[in-house]
Amino acid sequence: MTPRALVDTHCHLNFPNLFPDPDAEVDFTVAAGVGRMIAVGCDHETSQHAVALAERRTEVFATVGCHPNSAGEFESAFLDTLREWLALPKVVALGEIGLDYHWNVAPKEHQHAVLNAQLDLADELECPVVFHCREAYDDLLDVLEPRARPGYLLHCFGGDLDQAARAAELGLWFGVDGPVTYKSADSLRAVLRSLPPERLVIETDAPYLPPHPYRGKPNRPAYVRLVNAGLAQALGMGEDECATLTTANAERFFGLSA
Ligand SMILES: [Zn+2]
Repeated sequence: MTPRALVDTHCHLNFPNLFPDPDAEVDFTVAAGVGRMIAVGCDHETSQHAVALAERRTEVFATVGCHPNSAGEFESAFLDTLREWLALPKVVALGEIGLDYHWNVAPKEHQHAVLNAQLDLADELECPVVFHCREAYDDLLDVLEPRARPGYLLHCFGGDLDQAARAAELGLWFGVDGPVTYKSADSLRAVLRSLPPERLVIETDAPYLPPHPYRGKPNRPAYVRLVNAGLAQALGMGEDECATLTTANAERFFGLSA
C-alpha cells in the first residue's frame, strides 16, 4: 500500500518576514510529496496571513489565536475576530495558545487570563485547540484538567515521562518535531514511545526546529518527511506505516477530509 501524502500540522508559512514568498514554499513542499500544511497563527497579523494563505491555496489550512508571548497585545474584541475566522471552512483550530515561562514576555497572570478567555471561546465553538507550552507543563495541565475534552493538542511536546502520562490520561494529543531526529534525543524518544500512537501528529514548526541534517539552517515544511522518519525509528515501525498513521491522525484531529 502506498502511504498517503504527509501533513505538516504546524508551520509558520504565514510569517511574512520569514517566508516572504509563501506560495513558492507551498509549491516546493507539494513537489517534495507533502500533501497539506497547517499555517499556525500567533497574533492578529499572523492569524490573518494564515487565513489568507489558506483561502488562496487548497493545500493549506489555518489556525488562529493569540500566543502567550503576544498576550500583551490581546484585547477582548479579538475574540470576535477569532469567532469569525473559526467559522471559515479552511480554519481548522484555535491556536497556538498556551503558557510560556521561558520567555515570560507577559506576566504569568496575564498569560493565564488570555489562555482562559480563548479556552472559553473554544468551548463555545467546540473547536480543536493547539497549545504552545514552554517550561510550564505542570501549570498548563492544571488549567486543562478540569476542562479536558477531546480536541486538545500539545504542539512540539517536550514534557517528561510523568507529564506525558498525565497529559495522555487527560486524552490530549501530541505534536512531534525535528528534535526527534537528534542523536542526543533519547529521552524524548522514550517519552514518545510512552504515548498513545493514535494521538501523535508530525509537524515542522518551520522555520524553527530544523531536523537533522538541517540544524543551523531554516526549517521548511518539506522536511516533515524527516520528522516522520525519526518518529518511525523511535516507535520501531516502518516509515510508510508511520506516514499512514500520522496522516490519519492529522485528518482525525483537524477534521481534514481523507
Ligand atoms: Zn509554532
